[in-house]
Amino acid sequence: MISVEEAKEKILGYAHTLGTEEKYILECLDQVIAEDIYSPYNIPPMDNSAMDGFAVRFADTRGAAENSPVVLKVIEEVPAGSIAKKAVGPGTATRIMTGAPVPPGADAVVQFEHTDEVQRSKSPGGGKPAEIGILKEASAGLNIRQAGEDIKKGQLIVAKGTVLRPSETGVLATAGLARVKVIRRPVVAVLATGDELVDLGNPLPPGKIHNSNTFSIAALVQRYGGIPKVLGIARDNVEELASLVREGLDADMLLTSGGVSAGDYDIVKDVLAREGEISFWTVRMKPGKPLAFGFFKVKDGDKGVRFVPHLGFPGNPVSAMVSFELFARPAILKMMGKTLLEKPSIKATIENSVVNRDGRRIYVRVVVTRKDGKYYASLTGEQGSGILTSMSMADGLAVIPEDAPEVKAGETVTVLMLDWNESRL
Ligand code: AMP
Ligand code: MG
Repeated sequence: MISVEEAKEKILGYAHTLGTEEKYILECLDQVIAEDIYSPYNIPPMDNSAMDGFAVRFADTRGAAENSPVVLKVIEEVPAGSIAKKAVGPGTATRIMTGAPVPPGADAVVQFEHTDEVQRSKSPGGGKPAEIGILKEASAGLNIRQAGEDIKKGQLIVAKGTVLRPSETGVLATAGLARVKVIRRPVVAVLATGDELVDLGNPLPPGKIHNSNTFSIAALVQRYGGIPKVLGIARDNVEELASLVREGLDADMLLTSGGVSAGDYDIVKDVLAREGEISFWTVRMKPGKPLAFGFFKVKDGDKGVRFVPHLGFPGNPVSAMVSFELFARPAILKMMGKTLLEKPSIKATIENSVVNRDGRRIYVRVVVTRKDGKYYASLTGEQGSGILTSMSMADGLAVIPEDAPEVKAGETVTVLMLDWNESRL
């Protein structure tokens, strides 16, 4: 038996950072930026108003107050997107909207609330008044957003290696950059094996079950940023398995489910050993003790040989998903150029006792709640590796250490978070 860490280490040894692609920024969410990106200009590009109000010379407002307004002549109006035609000189003001460039000569903006515009426009013949009363003194630069105050021309705005979030997408857009170079997403081929499996959309004859692993695994591939390539179901015979596997060899990784337990693993082994190399591991974990790992050697044009790593998960639906989280997820993230490969975890008080009979690390499915600032984890119920609803109910996988014969209710455990359920946390 090997530890989870040993298995992961070996697998990651075959997962290599992929090449780059240049794409429209909206297609790059969660991908890693492959180049340092500098702003081609100042942001904002010009001094502009932070308020709707009047652009003035601040010196003109000296002494302005509710009961002693300073009256200025309104010479112009600049909406956002326009440029003032006139300079603001002594005794004058320009009506200005948020985001509009500050007219030459003005050095402050007095917001509408500190003027008498409302009273003037309500008075007979009001409309847009030709004069405005300033009711409060302005200071130099008041309500003016300076050119380059956010980003200076030439400034590094997104560094190579950054994972693109919505905020970085916005920063690229504000710098006018529609496309960006990122590390490409891995294509991950997903293959189910088993004579008992029926594809979705078909009725269930006696003795058969629907293929669920393909869907949970392909969805996990998507969740962590990869592109699933669904290969379908291979019957438990060498020919069918071999031909479907070949269809998956243009992918960056192949994931299979089933056929790794003692009963039928010979078939998978035969095929995979013929086309590449394979080893079968027993990993000190539960669920998911058996794990196949190998790689295919694929001729890659004139570049020589390409290695396509293969992970063979057990067929039990929970085992396949948990094995994916522990082994395929970090491989996908590494291929995408990410460096944080650990699953986010929290410490929680476990609310049930869990007995560990055979010295394996148990990943129990738990519902996580927060009470008085502390996290609690309670089992989802029946923990069999065929109980797929234990995954759908769970927020996380609580780790029962391999060297603990029992973890008692009330003890602290690490929980690998599958999701952050905002209604409970
Ligand atoms: P195996 O690892 O092939 O021995 O399968 C172990 C268990 O998982 C059996 O009960 C299978 O029927 C079930 N199983 C295998 N593949 C799938 C699949 N793609 N979808 C749902 N259950 C599966
Ligand atoms: Mg099987």
